[in-house]
Amino acid sequence: MAVAAENQPQEKITTTEASAVEKRRWTLNDFDIGKPLGRGKFGHVYLAREKRSNQIVALKVLFKSQLQQSQVEHQLRREVEIQSHLRHSNILRLYGYFYDQKRIYLVLEYAPKGELYKELQKCKYFSERRAATYIASLARALIYCHGKHVIHRDIKPENLLIGAQGELKIADFGWSVHTFNRRRTMCGTLDYLSPEMVESVEHDASVDIWSLGVLCYEFLYGVPPFEAKEHSDTYRRIMQVDLKFPPRPIISSTAKDLISQMLVKECSQRLPLHKVLEHPWIVQNSEPSGVYKS
Ligand code: ATP
Ligand code: MG
Repeated sequence: MAVAAENQPQEKITTTEASAVEKRRWTLNDFDIGKPLGRGKFGHVYLAREKRSNQIVALKVLFKSQLQQSQVEHQLRREVEIQSHLRHSNILRLYGYFYDQKRIYLVLEYAPKGELYKELQKCKYFSERRAATYIASLARALIYCHGKHVIHRDIKPENLLIGAQGELKIADFGWSVHTFNRRRTMCGTLDYLSPEMVESVEHDASVDIWSLGVLCYEFLYGVPPFEAKEHSDTYRRIMQVDLKFPPRPIISSTAKDLISQMLVKECSQRLPLHKVLEHPWIVQNSEPSGVYKS
């Protein structure tokens, strides 16, 4: 497993308090390891402190053997490459990585308030104010990603963490893709791309609009819109866009209007993210600060 090529530049912490840190490759000795924060499919996440800068981070430890067994090395490499280049207050920073014989370590921004789906479980569903604030911040983060030709493709409560101010952080770029790059290598130069090919890049990005619509519904109702006992029924309901709004909880018609405009089968007809931000429900309900305070 060679996630890190020897000559690859390493991202370092660049916040003001850490800017004095000399650029060099990290090893485990550079960190004090604290309490475990959680367990993932391929390893564990620990609270940690980078000794030189005193910066608190989350250290994700992955076992190479498990990654190899599941054949996800390629996916991890892509995740690291993409996430380490994104800088947005609603996207979890990936400061860098290092490895030893058995493990790969990802140095991540620490999200002190934990997982969003636990919050959702606790509350059952969110208020419109809270949901709108979250959806607006995610729309802004996705506009940023799409501007960099990155499509997340796996937006769901499990992949959202909560930062110190209560702001959402998109984590887990394991399924994301960098379309621009792919197309560029595929087609040589962009200059020769036909309109429909340029357009299809944007079409791809609209999968994230759909997911945002699903998320908005789940925030407000506590369950995803196309839920069913059998997978085959969920599949059918998605294909038919079998969207129903239950009578309870009582949700404003503007919220339902926004959801209906994002959950559109024809991907080119989904409400573009900048229009999501201008939608009356978002304008009326989301916190101008972009941060929900309970
Ligand atoms: P996978 O992504 O492999 O499916 P996962 O998403 O369940 O796994 P991880 O991303 O490895 O798990 O994280 C495991 C748990 O650790 C998370 O569910 C979360 O509670 C916690 N955690 C992960 N990253 C952070 C972080 N940056 N800050 C705070 N807690 C974190
Ligand atoms: Mg995850």
